[in-house]
Amino acid sequence: MIPAFDLSLQYKQLKSEIGAALNSVLDGGEFILGPAVKNLEKSLAAYCECSHAVGVASGTDALRVGMAALGIGPGDEVITTAFTFVATANTISHCGGKPVFIDVEPGSFNLNPALVEKAVTPRTKAILVVHLYGQPAGMDEILAIAKRRRLLVIEDCAQALGARYRARRVGSLGDIGCLSFYPTKNLGAYGDAGMVVTNRPEIAEKVDILRRQGSPKKYHADRLGFNSRLDSLQAAILNVKFSHLEAWNARRRAIASHYSRLLQGLPLTTPVEVPDTVHVYHQYTIRTAQRDGLASHLQAAGIGTMIYYPVALHQQELYQSLGYAAGSLPVTEKLCREVVSLPMYPELTEVQVEEVAKAIAGFFKK
Ligand SMILES: *Cc1c(COP(=O)(O)O)cnc(C)c1O
Repeated sequence: MIPAFDLSLQYKQLKSEIGAALNSVLDGGEFILGPAVKNLEKSLAAYCECSHAVGVASGTDALRVGMAALGIGPGDEVITTAFTFVATANTISHCGGKPVFIDVEPGSFNLNPALVEKAVTPRTKAILVVHLYGQPAGMDEILAIAKRRRLLVIEDCAQALGARYRARRVGSLGDIGCLSFYPTKNLGAYGDAGMVVTNRPEIAEKVDILRRQGSPKKYHADRLGFNSRLDSLQAAILNVKFSHLEAWNARRRAIASHYSRLLQGLPLTTPVEVPDTVHVYHQYTIRTAQRDGLASHLQAAGIGTMIYYPVALHQQELYQSLGYAAGSLPVTEKLCREVVSLPMYPELTEVQVEEVAKAIAGFFKK
């Protein structure tokens, strides 16, 4: 049995360290925005090559509170991808804005920069890029358009913590970077947690105030805020795990290149690494027209797979009112039919990777 992911292996390795970190928070008695949170913010700001990092309650809140801090509001259009998790877009809606979906590139699975400019209108306020599966989007082109058209750039780094684009860390390229520490992410808590990273001090300050009910001074609200604070116990767990992140990401990359080597020559498409980027393989996602058959074959062989994402956002019930017809985002729609993600976690062994590859080869030999 090889599951699509397995969180228990990491916990077994770190059990005593995590126990000690939790006890120290419990002994210290500071449960909200205490020293453990400050510590994590400091580590992640430095890691993401940003001057500031502000912990919030989830990756979704990093997007929602971050966009509120950037002033995205009613009537604003935000250009983004439909080939992503729903939180990328519903947070735009929560701010009162309107997601404008454009198609992706088949190779990188990310926003197609060539389509961005055509989607810009007088109401466009921002471009929200997602570095899907851990692969950086084409930021040079996107940043150039944003500069020319005076748009904000938001990076959804929920799947890409540690990835690099032309030597720069994702999250440091746009106006804000939004991190998620959902348990299965490359740096995962044991509950919900998230963070906004930025090189704009005034935006960091706004996120800090907004996450605390819009109160710069306790019990004095000067704007509409949220309760979105990062939990100290989760921060303590993340501080322990953070010291392993680089090694884990390196291991993910090694597993990915092993998979790609073993799958060569089969009638499927392995992930493309965009030149001059570091992909951190939150997912190792292949494409094949026989996706459903392959997934059932692997399941029968005791190998777990996941489909991210079976339905694109423009085709979700939620966004029917936006009026996108079937076929309006052809690449996105094709990917939804063809992608399948293989087991990917740092503890996966070489023997297991070989077993997965062998089962895939077996399917195509039939
Ligand atoms: C996980 C994820 C989010 C949301 O993060 P949560 O911590 O689960 O709220 C947003 N965007 C993408 C692309 C994600 O993968």
